[in-house]
Amino acid sequence: MISRNSILEWLIIGGGVHGTYLSNALIRNRITRRSDLRVLDPHDEPLREWKKCTSNVGMKYLRSPKVHHLDLEPFSLKHFGVCESCDERLYIPPNDRPSLKLFNRHAENVIDRNGLQNLRIKEVALRIKPGRTFHTVFGSEHIYKTKNIVIAAGNGKPFWPEWATFIRNEGAKIMHVLGDCFDKKRIPEQAVVAVVGGGMSAVQTAISLASEHREVVLISPHSIQINNYDSDPGWMGPKYLQKFRMEPNYKRRRRWINEARNRGSVTQELYRNFALLRKNKQCRFYAGKVVSADPVSSEMILLHLDTAEVTAANVIILATGFEQGLPGGAMISELARDSGFRCASCGFPIPDRYLRWWDGIYLSGSLGELETGPSAPNLIGARMAANKILSAASKTTDSSYKLYKNGY
Ligand SMILES: Cc1cc2nc3c(=O)[nH]c(=O)nc-3n(C[C@H](O)[C@H](O)[C@H](O)COP(=O)(O)OP(=O)(O)OC[C@H]3O[C@@H](n4cnc5c(N)ncnc54)[C@H](O)[C@@H]3O)c2cc1C
Repeated sequence: MISRNSILEWLIIGGGVHGTYLSNALIRNRITRRSDLRVLDPHDEPLREWKKCTSNVGMKYLRSPKVHHLDLEPFSLKHFGVCESCDERLYIPPNDRPSLKLFNRHAENVIDRNGLQNLRIKEVALRIKPGRTFHTVFGSEHIYKTKNIVIAAGNGKPFWPEWATFIRNEGAKIMHVLGDCFDKKRIPEQAVVAVVGGGMSAVQTAISLASEHREVVLISPHSIQINNYDSDPGWMGPKYLQKFRMEPNYKRRRRWINEARNRGSVTQELYRNFALLRKNKQCRFYAGKVVSADPVSSEMILLHLDTAEVTAANVIILATGFEQGLPGGAMISELARDSGFRCASCGFPIPDRYLRWWDGIYLSGSLGELETGPSAPNLIGARMAANKILSAASKTTDSSYKLYKNGY
């Protein structure tokens, strides 16, 4: 337990993929002692959001390769896979993408082996007050003093289009697949389910529901595009990042990020699986944007598309991703406003090259994307962020660190 007056060395806000990786990297590189580091997160277990989202959509294989995971050594997951007895294929092409089961088992092993669960405090951070010798974090239960903070609060809220919010308020059966309230058991077996969205989450959800013999219709704003990557792999190294980081105009950086992200695209094998379902008439498909929805009864909703087509469903599942704005909620917007920390016109923080928004206040994940680039929220983004943060921290603590540098 931390005493009232003690000052932590490090406090990580958010114990998802990024916060957990960072805690492992800080400990294993001896940047800090276990007793001087804590991770604040509202959930009992690490990676709760990751596990919820990937399980809700019915994901079987990751989009990223097997060297992207929560351990420090790039081939840790590969070695772990050799010892695992699995009843399924461990990796699929291209790039040896691991199965979700293997990835999660490996992540749990990393957490157990390094005692990362014991660093967690189940609590939400509500406010950050920066200071000269230490910063203060006001949690829902306690107040923490800390020399360094890493904000790793995730991607923000699931995005609800206006028409969807309207019919939800009217009592229609509608859920967001990335939301806390999603529960497959609430979809009756005989229901016609409309999945709205055109990216990985939407296609995975449609495949997963159709394979349970439900009647599924996928409504995507565009035809399904194939791309095996979230963004070009050049964004994981100097090929594109060098020029990106030299660009002083943050509007241009924002435009490059938006253009680089292959939003609304799916991997080759998902495309094939989905095409097969359509061929076998197990799933219908509309390319069009939903413009409005009419709950005609408590059981039936009519969806009107911009193509003038109309389709009916009993249940609607949104797979429309996350809100595009600044993640982190009021805590971040108030910190930016009250402390005058630099933000770009898109509202996102402008950190330095070490992801430092202020002395001892670091950003990991989407919040740092104007420095880390389009892959910032992903698994590789956690590794890139850790490299930067540890490189700043080792300068101030005299520790040498041994992350695997490859030009991040
Ligand atoms: C379906 C799906 C599949 C994906 N597949 C891949 C893939 O194959 N490869 C890849 O690289 N990426 C993939 N991604 C993207 C990537 O994994 C996520 O963006 C990543 O999980 C984000 O990690 P995070 O730690 O930033 O956020 P999260 O995992 O959301 O964790 C943030 C944590 O912070 C907590 N938190 C928030 N605010 C506070 C606060 N104020 N105080 C305390 N705690 C707080 C939250 O409760 C949460 O537990 C996928 C994403 C989805 C949705």
